[in-house]
Amino acid sequence: MMARRKKEYKRGVLQRFVKRTVAAKRARSLIRRTEFKTYAELEEMQFRMLRRIVEYSWNNIQGYRDMWRAANFHPSKLKSLSDYSLIPIIEKNDIRSDLPLFSNSKVQDKVLRYTGGSTGHPFSFYTDLQDTASTNEFILDVWRCRSEKLSSSPIRTSLRGDKIKSLFEFRPKQGLVLSTYQLTERNVDQYVKLIDEYGKTELLHAYPSSAYLLARLMDQQKLRLKERFKLIALGSEKLYPFQLDMIKKHLGDNITHWYGMAEGVCLAGYCKHVDKFHIYPQLSITEVLDAGDNPVEKGEIGEVVGTNFWNYATPLIRYRSGDRAVLGDNKCTKCGRNYQLLDSIEGRTQECFYDADLQPVICTGYSFLMSRFENVVDSQYVQDVPGEAGLLIVKSKSYSQKDEDGIKKALETMYRGRISFHVKYVDSLERSSTNKIRFLIQNVKGDNVKRGGV
Ligand SMILES: [Zn+2]
Repeated sequence: MMARRKKEYKRGVLQRFVKRTVAAKRARSLIRRTEFKTYAELEEMQFRMLRRIVEYSWNNIQGYRDMWRAANFHPSKLKSLSDYSLIPIIEKNDIRSDLPLFSNSKVQDKVLRYTGGSTGHPFSFYTDLQDTASTNEFILDVWRCRSEKLSSSPIRTSLRGDKIKSLFEFRPKQGLVLSTYQLTERNVDQYVKLIDEYGKTELLHAYPSSAYLLARLMDQQKLRLKERFKLIALGSEKLYPFQLDMIKKHLGDNITHWYGMAEGVCLAGYCKHVDKFHIYPQLSITEVLDAGDNPVEKGEIGEVVGTNFWNYATPLIRYRSGDRAVLGDNKCTKCGRNYQLLDSIEGRTQECFYDADLQPVICTGYSFLMSRFENVVDSQYVQDVPGEAGLLIVKSKSYSQKDEDGIKKALETMYRGRISFHVKYVDSLERSSTNKIRFLIQNVKGDNVKRGGV
């Protein structure tokens, strides 16, 4: 009995490994075959991929079928890519209200993913092994634009908000994982020592805000790395020029930056030559739309709305991301790719608290934290005093003392006493003009920390 179970388990692991490898290879080969195609060829490819996921969703996903019927849309109306705008836009709330209705329960190896973005209301959806593996391959492609010889699973130093118990963990297959939350002026010398000792300087994988914090603390204390990183890969947040300067000064010159989101309706990164976001047409169709849902012109800001071609567990079709970006040229003359460019991303702020000493404390683990408490309808932090923050919560009916205790405990563990939290219950949160909720209202102005406005 035991032996049979063991065998089945082994077979499962092997099957998943094969699935991941095949999916990654497929994505890599598609990028290689198509990255220098003409507009017409790219459009033809996108139309094929769009039709496939739209027809699949009509046949398998009741939520889409109901929504499209109500809006008088049918897949047969898609005659060319220019008919794309006939598809109704889907909001996070449509899916949030009934996730099973927008998902295919038959998809194997499903994973539930959470995302909070820059709003205080987490969003969850399903994805699968193949989708995750192919998305990782696109990100790896961004990195390879600035470091051609990078292996398929590069050993790295990570400073990305991983939940680890001590200051660091060493994982043989991944590399050195450093705690973002515990980094302070008191222990930054230990971080530098760890990086020097473990010597994994091929790649630093970080958030702009965490790499900046490390560099800034090193600057204050005149610390130096023995060897600078060969590539610094920064994602998930906006990168400000003042951060870039400080990171280059202390950590390394070769920097890549990309914009993406868990939902995968847009992935865009720097090329070898240009510090602008090249949108991958093989992964999604991405539009930038104004308040009336019309495409913006080059140089204008709008909302990122997109369709991911790879996720068949919870398809996201013309999905409103909530992020804002400035539309750039429709090709890159430097590298020759006929990709749509984004000049900048305005939708993500790097949010931080300030402790009693006015030192920044990054709050990147926020969406993960809040998504664990399903009785929280909405939430927002407000900081008026260094070292303290208010957490405003809109409760659901089933919210109880147990939830409050759990939240307080999780916050304590995460911020280790650097910030003390007081919880306040409210009926609703104030929304901005774009109907978004900033997850942190920061009223403390930290010394030496310039804050970019959004
Ligand atoms: Zn380029």
